[in-house]
Amino acid sequence: MSEENKIWAEKAEKVFMGTYARYPAVMVKGEGCTLTDADGKKYLDCLAGIAVCSLGHCHPVITEAVCAQAAELMHVSNLYYTKPQTELAALLVEHSFADQVFMANSGAEANEAAIKLARIFAGPERYGIISLTGSFHGRTLATVAATGQPKLQKGFEPMPEGFSHAPFGNLNVLEAMITDQTCAIMCEPLQGEGGVRPLDVEYLQGVEKLCNDHNLLLIFDEIQTGMGRTGTLFAYEQIGIVPDIMTLAKALGNGMPIGAMLTRKEIAASFVPGAHGSTFGGNPVACAAAVATMNIMLESGFLEEVQEKGEYLQKGLKDIAARFPNLACGARGMGLIRGLVLTDVGIEQGADIVKRLFENGVLINFAGNAVLRFLPPLIITKKEIDTLLTAVADVLAECKK
Ligand SMILES: *Cc1c(COP(=O)(O)O)cnc(C)c1O
Repeated sequence: MSEENKIWAEKAEKVFMGTYARYPAVMVKGEGCTLTDADGKKYLDCLAGIAVCSLGHCHPVITEAVCAQAAELMHVSNLYYTKPQTELAALLVEHSFADQVFMANSGAEANEAAIKLARIFAGPERYGIISLTGSFHGRTLATVAATGQPKLQKGFEPMPEGFSHAPFGNLNVLEAMITDQTCAIMCEPLQGEGGVRPLDVEYLQGVEKLCNDHNLLLIFDEIQTGMGRTGTLFAYEQIGIVPDIMTLAKALGNGMPIGAMLTRKEIAASFVPGAHGSTFGGNPVACAAAVATMNIMLESGFLEEVQEKGEYLQKGLKDIAARFPNLACGARGMGLIRGLVLTDVGIEQGADIVKRLFENGVLINFAGNAVLRFLPPLIITKKEIDTLLTAVADVLAECKK
């Protein structure tokens, strides 16, 4: 690590709690798919701040919207109306199944709102939420209880009551877990943190039917899959299943912190004044960024291009899997959320592969302890995808066989 990176990294290690194992780079500038660190090294960013900067870093239109709003009005709380907040909610309603929106500042908060709404809608005795093993729904106590990864709960017990986890993709066990107390089933249409794991359409149709038969709400956590990531504005559109509640965050503000929870009018009616709230939720600057982000994503051809580039990346990853069968056994995902599935031999070297790519100036991560995950900005070019694929192939070629 050279001088500037080192100085700042050492300073940070002293003053931060140790929740993150960071790579040794201090990022100082972003433009499009490129990040620059404090020593001037450039990186091809194929993680986009974990599926956040979908229009690339510092997109000029978003930066302009943020600056203009910051000069006009930064915060008033939810005791009053603001224009950007209303514009954003109207856009979300216009382009989704939902009638009404609650605004939060993050994914976990959007999911907390969904959990609270599902419970208050269902009434006093029905509080159970079933989610899936391998899922990720956030780090607050309720959302980590919903998260189907015991390692993320360890040490924080007792977990809030009313959460259980059905084995990924198993409909019979899910059905057997439904009780009189159950009020909702919550899942990601495609697990992101869990390792880019899509759920079968037939399985999701089965879940939808269970929800209908047992009078349960279906909550889709589209925090990672939403906002164009999968090639449609929301993944549910491609799957052909309409949830009752949907949560969004990550790419919604292209880097400004914002989350949202959406639902139909009849369900939203359970949230009366005072039932839930947030000081910052729907902050005007974050909402101005989100409105500008959505307007760009909704331009004609944008989402089609995401699909096309997603197919291109998928093909390239499949070719790599075929070239290195001892390390990789396939590629999966939707749109521009893709995973290169590693073999047992590959998994052992997963973290090392990511580290070597970092050293070679390409940013990706190792998700679900099973796949190399690719979440490039949606504006990535085919030429940049080629650079990424070449870098991955070069690193795999160096790996121990
Ligand atoms: C990232 C993520 C969350 C949590 O979002 P935060 O903004 O980190 O709280 C929840 N669900 C899914 C599917 C996510 O990818």
